[in-house]
Amino acid sequence: MFNYFQDLADRQLSGATLTSQDALAVLESTDAQLLDVVAAASRLRRAYFDNSVKVNYLVNLKSGLCPEDCTYCSQRLGSAAQILKYTWLKPEEALAQAASGIAAGASRVCLVASGKGPTDRDVERVAGMVDGLKDQHPDVEVCACLGILKDGQAERLKASGVDAYNHNLNTSEARYQDICSTHEFSDRVRTVEHAKSAGLSPCSGLIVGMGESNEDLVDAVFALRELDSDSIPVNFLMPFDGTPLEGTWLLTPAQCVRILALVRFACPAAEIRMAGGREMHLRSLQPLALNIANSLFLGDYLTSEGQPGQADLDMIADAGFTVLGQGAPPQSAGASMHDAGASPGAPVAPGALPAIRRRGAGTTVAPNA
Ligand code: SF4
Repeated sequence: MFNYFQDLADRQLSGATLTSQDALAVLESTDAQLLDVVAAASRLRRAYFDNSVKVNYLVNLKSGLCPEDCTYCSQRLGSAAQILKYTWLKPEEALAQAASGIAAGASRVCLVASGKGPTDRDVERVAGMVDGLKDQHPDVEVCACLGILKDGQAERLKASGVDAYNHNLNTSEARYQDICSTHEFSDRVRTVEHAKSAGLSPCSGLIVGMGESNEDLVDAVFALRELDSDSIPVNFLMPFDGTPLEGTWLLTPAQCVRILALVRFACPAAEIRMAGGREMHLRSLQPLALNIANSLFLGDYLTSEGQPGQADLDMIADAGFTVLGQGAPPQSAGASMHDAGASPGAPVAPGALPAIRRRGAGTTVAPNA
């Protein structure tokens, strides 16, 4: 019997380019078709990544106090979200935070700093951290996420040992002015191109659930395809109180799965990460989504707390996947320190507010790793 989504997977495996019509068919599939969509997308996921899950670990080097006004961001200009605010971590603290994630199974550490973009001095500071990190963990990949880059900065990061550079497109070009007035979509595209031309692996993704139409979403995904991003994080809006998108809850778990599937059909060979907000939006469908996405962030996010790191590792093992680069399932370093009330694997209640991060980088409390 003909199955539209299996046929779509066949075509993508033969090297076809996803059309807008097929992309919309994925987003507009019915709940009764959801498992067909997942089964078809999982063939692409397994063709490129088998049953591995790449674990990434975020270290927020500098939090809050940003002069930009991205509406979705708790670190934005004028944000009243009660997040941790701190300036650059000391190199030894950054290394200690990264080491926690690596001990829990992360094969990529993402060094992130708030702000429009780094000064040359900031780049030197991060280069020094990367030098130390690579000294201690030569096999671990480092991704830097420092904002819009100026001439020569990508090259300096590459020379220091940085492997990848993240700068998300976030949404479609047509909608960009609705989510930010202090820089433009083209600035973001330029930075990803700059990173690529310096030999850094491009990482660029999305934030969904900000009121975009399905057509906007398809445009944004096709723009990422055009960029040929090696790695695509898909973030699900965490509507922090004190930001313009406070109270915005537009996603269902099933729609989040369809969005991940769309990205997989459009960019079959890309590393697709179920990123920020997965706990509150995918909820109990997180393990199902691992059949499409092949990567996640372990533990906490930049300014909010994720599910316990051990719950992430358990979920990967329970769903029949293995952590990339690991043999037996690793044990979480911080398993005994997890917050009360967040039992491993417990889904976040629908509409639950993002829990503001109060541990890890910038605090004296053990990280969630
Ligand atoms: S997304 Fe980045 S540039 Fe935009 S407000 Fe947040 S920290 Fe600043």
